[in-house]
Amino acid sequence: MSIIPFHDRDGHIWYDGQLVPWRDAKVHVLTHGLHYGSCVFEGERIYNGSIFKSREHSVRLKKSAELLGFDIPYSVDEIEEAKVATCKAANMVNGYIRPVAWRGSEMMGVSAQHNKIHLAIACWEWPSYFTPEARMKGIHLQLSKWRRPAPDTAPTEAKAAGLYMICTMSKHAAEKDGFQDALMLDYRGYVAEATGANFFMIKDGVIHTPTPDCFLNGITRQTVIDLAKRRGYQVIERHIQLEEVQGASEIFLTGTAAEVTPVGRIGDWTFTPGEVCRNLMLDYDALVNGRLEAAAAE
Ligand code: PMP
Repeated sequence: MSIIPFHDRDGHIWYDGQLVPWRDAKVHVLTHGLHYGSCVFEGERIYNGSIFKSREHSVRLKKSAELLGFDIPYSVDEIEEAKVATCKAANMVNGYIRPVAWRGSEMMGVSAQHNKIHLAIACWEWPSYFTPEARMKGIHLQLSKWRRPAPDTAPTEAKAAGLYMICTMSKHAAEKDGFQDALMLDYRGYVAEATGANFFMIKDGVIHTPTPDCFLNGITRQTVIDLAKRRGYQVIERHIQLEEVQGASEIFLTGTAAEVTPVGRIGDWTFTPGEVCRNLMLDYDALVNGRLEAAAAE
């Protein structure tokens, strides 16, 4: 399979207020965001021409920047308009949207008080490749050796580029050993999340998910909790010990990219995705595609 690199594609990217040709959307090598991790981003999906929970993502982007001590020089409304313009220029009705904001090059040291704040927005096609039935086989997770840091160690509520350093290391280690993703514990040893998705387990028909006190409270996570409650499931947010996971009847992950993804294995423990996974996958699919009523009535 030949891969088209992301820097060498046709189309346009919204960059600091205007749409520029895709290949011209560059940063200089001496950029603070690259050297010191002063960079935040979003991952969003557009379904049938409508960006799912668009405003929530724009608000989170602004908040992530604030947590890193910088202010994106565009309002939530302006970011909303920019995302729509980006998708429109690409005729994108089903795809993925990536806003990214970072400190520029005016100062190149730890201190960067006067650096310009940049914002860029790109979109690309990213279909859900797997049918619900294929997904029901479940992905395999390896336990990561890296732990999610404490909230007084890093700005854990921010979707900040720097927090993904340990995610990439964990995911690469997992892939090297034949797993698709990694499960990370937190600094206390509680189950936290996968490298880009939140964690859920089902025990005795009840859904349990870790309290998001040191990792992203995903927009998909919150959506799926609502959907589960609408289905009549009990949902408990609490600290979860790794040993408890072994006895779960089903496990799944949630995220903008992952949507609802069942898990078939964690290390040596195997799980069989079942009814809860299937129901929530169908409900999520119905919701994002604007036909929840039909699915909920089934
Ligand atoms: N945790 C991490 C580390 C993530 O990268 C993501 C994806 N943004 C999530 C959780 C899920 O967040 P959301 O549902 O808002 O996409």
